[in-house]
Amino acid sequence: MIGEATIRLVRERTDIQAVIGDTVKLTRRGRSWIGLCPFHRERTPSFHVTPERGIFHCFGCGEHGNVIDFLIKTEGVSFPEAVRQLADRAGIEVEENRSDRQRRDEEAAKKAREDLYAVNNLAARFYETMMDEHPHAKLAREELERRELVPSEPTDAIATALQSFRVGYAPAEWAALAAYLRQQGIAPHVAEQAGLLLPRSTGGGFYDRFRHRLMFAVIDLQGRVVGFSGRILPDPQTGLVDKETGKYINSPETPVYKKGDLVFGLYQARQPVRQAEHAVLVEGNFDVVSLHARGIRNVVAPLGTAFTPEQALAIKRFAPEVVLLFDGDAAGRKAVKAAREPCKKAGLVARAASLPEGIDPDDLSRTRGPDAVKAVIKASRGLLEHLIDVSLEAPFSGSSSEERVERLHEVVELINAEDDPAVRAIAQKFADDVAHRLVQRDANLGMADVTTFRALV
Ligand SMILES: [Zn+2]
Repeated sequence: MIGEATIRLVRERTDIQAVIGDTVKLTRRGRSWIGLCPFHRERTPSFHVTPERGIFHCFGCGEHGNVIDFLIKTEGVSFPEAVRQLADRAGIEVEENRSDRQRRDEEAAKKAREDLYAVNNLAARFYETMMDEHPHAKLAREELERRELVPSEPTDAIATALQSFRVGYAPAEWAALAAYLRQQGIAPHVAEQAGLLLPRSTGGGFYDRFRHRLMFAVIDLQGRVVGFSGRILPDPQTGLVDKETGKYINSPETPVYKKGDLVFGLYQARQPVRQAEHAVLVEGNFDVVSLHARGIRNVVAPLGTAFTPEQALAIKRFAPEVVLLFDGDAAGRKAVKAAREPCKKAGLVARAASLPEGIDPDDLSRTRGPDAVKAVIKASRGLLEHLIDVSLEAPFSGSSSEERVERLHEVVELINAEDDPAVRAIAQKFADDVAHRLVQRDANLGMADVTTFRALV
């Protein structure tokens, strides 16, 4: 528990205009500062910050509160986290009601976490430098070229996206990072705990986990590097891609990185997600970076796992809705279906956008431009309707009567799994219409099937 006195002191000593000014461009007007509201979309500013009262208020959407509320709402942090951040900033010691023993334990744990953030940050810097300096980084740059992620000037949207995702290159060597970290005075066991180094099986010493990989930093909601995701590259000697190893290697779980909690790109996307009032969920890291580079910045991806309820909750801190923009293939369709449950658990409204067969969002943005992606997102539909359509749209002709019944059952199950009676009613009507259209299109699906179907629903 943080003491009342500390909370009061934090509010008194914090310059609310400076804190909010980090995320909102503020202009002075009399005793207030005004800017474009970060909580709703607007063209003319109705968001007011009044330093002498220590509050913000939006006359457009009614969002209001003090500086602590602002951090909770915009950064997705908890109350104690917000107070600690502000206390750090104002140089205030946080007084908490704890025993000395608790305090010592917590301080030791905090120090250990800070060491992990520091070593991860050093590694990110090393990989960024290697992208420019290492002879084999050419293969990583070629991968970026293939995806047309080559900046034409150091400050354009592509350069900004590559920098904000801290894209780098892990050298094709056994102990390049290990040597660099040793130079920097980092104890190898700290780098091992961060998941960056692995102990050699014989003879002692450590080697690099990520070797000859295109690196993306995994960044938490406070902007700290907590891990990495490394994409495979063609072998420098043979030019071939090893089919035996995984396409991506991700950091293992560490005290600062829990798999399934973190959403890739949410830190970079958090303001655009809030402004758009929805996030766009894609499958791959490259889709995220590529869309950011092309100006679609409310895009995130699950990381190294299927989409989880925790990830859905993390998104919900910034927007009530998610649009699933998964690849137009069997795996993508399966992933859309699998995302339904986590969204439901988190109370995150889910919609689905359909990409053409065999196309991923990165392909689409490159070949047809960001507007084509925006159009697909705009045409997204409620997840249940989408799933019903997918189940029924494949032609029925040629399928056996068992198969037909199975698919109708599938749709019935989809509808019955919906808790909201209003949504269920709409979905039933929708399924009924689709089934009806099928009869007209498909000679093998008789009126009898539709009657059966209606009876089931
Ligand atoms: Zn507002």
